[in-house]
Amino acid sequence: MRIGTGYDVHRLATGRALILGGVNIPFDRGLEGHSDADCLTHAIADSILGAAGLPDIGHFFPDTDPQFKNIDSLQILALACVEAAKLGYIVTNIDTVIIAEAPKIGPHIAAMKEKLAEVLGLPGSAIGIKATTHEKLGDIGKGLGIAAHAVCLLSPKG
Ligand code: MG
Repeated sequence: MRIGTGYDVHRLATGRALILGGVNIPFDRGLEGHSDADCLTHAIADSILGAAGLPDIGHFFPDTDPQFKNIDSLQILALACVEAAKLGYIVTNIDTVIIAEAPKIGPHIAAMKEKLAEVLGLPGSAIGIKATTHEKLGDIGKGLGIAAHAVCLLSPKG
């Protein structure tokens, strides 16, 4: 078995939709980035690629490539699973933490689990999503951005 870790952060900006775990969350700002800037899904994808010993998502989806502009990050996650599968691994479980001063994440966790479970081919019970504030400390604490940590476990296929 192989473990991996991922981390991502994006700035919040006006005029953008807030997408976390593939779910559109009502908020006055959204995350800024080349893709849909879903930092939770990016952190999970990087944890899978890392566990497989592969380069990070920037390697597979360069932000200089116009074909990935505003891409749904669930597609990035699906590709990470495919790349791990090519090496003979499947995702066994993931665990994550979202760090956001606002909005409240809790009410959206069930919907995120459902989206992620579908892409990862896992039951919801194999997906951990937790949320915390940054206690007003630093830029995340000032609400300037949202960050996410993820770990995953890969197991040999079959
Ligand atoms: Mg990112």
